[in-house]
Amino acid sequence: MKVLHSCHEAFAHAHHVRLEGQRLGFVPTMGALHEGHLALVRRSKEECDATAVSIFVNPTQFGPGEDYQQYPRTLEQDCQGLRDLGVDFVFVPTAQDLYPVGFSTYVHPPRVAEPLEGKFRPGHFRGVATVVLKLFHIIPATAAYFGRKDYQQLLVIRRMVEDLNVPIRIVDCPTVREADGLAMSSRNRYLSPQQRQAALCLWKALNAARERLASGEREGAALQRHMLDVLYDQGADRVDYAVVADPDTLEPLQEVDRTAIALIAAHVGKTRLIDNLLLEPSPPDEPN
Ligand code: AMP
Repeated sequence: MKVLHSCHEAFAHAHHVRLEGQRLGFVPTMGALHEGHLALVRRSKEECDATAVSIFVNPTQFGPGEDYQQYPRTLEQDCQGLRDLGVDFVFVPTAQDLYPVGFSTYVHPPRVAEPLEGKFRPGHFRGVATVVLKLFHIIPATAAYFGRKDYQQLLVIRRMVEDLNVPIRIVDCPTVREADGLAMSSRNRYLSPQQRQAALCLWKALNAARERLASGEREGAALQRHMLDVLYDQGADRVDYAVVADPDTLEPLQEVDRTAIALIAAHVGKTRLIDNLLLEPSPPDEPN
C-alpha cells in the first residue's frame, strides 16, 4: 500500500487507475479509524477494482473553540488497518498542501446545510464541502463512500455533487455501532468510562422515538419532547437538537405520516456526539 503525501502524486496514481479503465473507490476520512470507517473501505473493495483512502483532519470544518487541536491522530495504526484490508493507496496531505498561503476559494454549501449542524457549527459544511470537492479533484474516483452516521453531511455532499456536476457516484453506508448501540465515532475516545455509559442516551432517545411512533404517536413535536426527556434523563449534559425531520430536506415534520429521520446532537461532558435513525410510520389500523 502506498502512502502518498503530495496532491500531485495522489492525482497521478488515481488518474493512472482510471486510465486503465478500472473502477476506483474513494473513502475520505479524518483518521483515528474505527470499524465504521473500515466498513466503508470494505464496501469500496467489494464494488471497485482499486480503493483509495484519505486521512486529513480538515481545519476549515472546525469552528473556534472546537476540537481541531485535540482531534485524535493515529496515522501509523490507521495505515496498518488499511494495509490489512488491501487498500491500494492512502492520501495524507498536510494543511499547507491543501490550504497554501493565499488560499481563498470556498464552496458555498447547499440549502440542506443550513439547519441542525449548520446552525450549531456555523461554517462547518462550508469547510466540509470545500475539502471534499478538492479531494474529489485530486482523486477522480468512480465512487465515494460516506457513512449515514453523518446524515446531514451525506445530504450536503450528494447535493453538491449533483449541483456542480461532479462525476463521482456517492454511496451511503449504514451506521456501524458498538454492541450496545453507541454509534462508532473517533470522538468516543474522549469519553471516560462513566461518560461512555451516558453517551448511550442518544441511541436510547432515538429508539424511544421509534417506539413512541410505533405505539401511535405521530406528532413530531411530541416525539421530539420525548427524545429530549430521554436524553436528559439518561445522561446528556446539553442537547443541541433532537428533531424529527423530512429525510431529504431536514425540515421538521409536524406529523410523521411518511418516512422520517430522527437526528440528535448532544454533549456528554465536553464531547459533542451526533446520531440519527430512520423512522417508518406504523401502517394505519386495519378496519375490523
Ligand atoms: P470522519 O473520519 O469522522 O470524517 O468520517 C469519515 C467517514 O466515515 C464519513 O463518511 C463518516 O460518515 C463515516 N463514518 C464515521 N463513523 C461511522 C460509523 N459509525 N458508521 C458508518 N460510517 C461512519
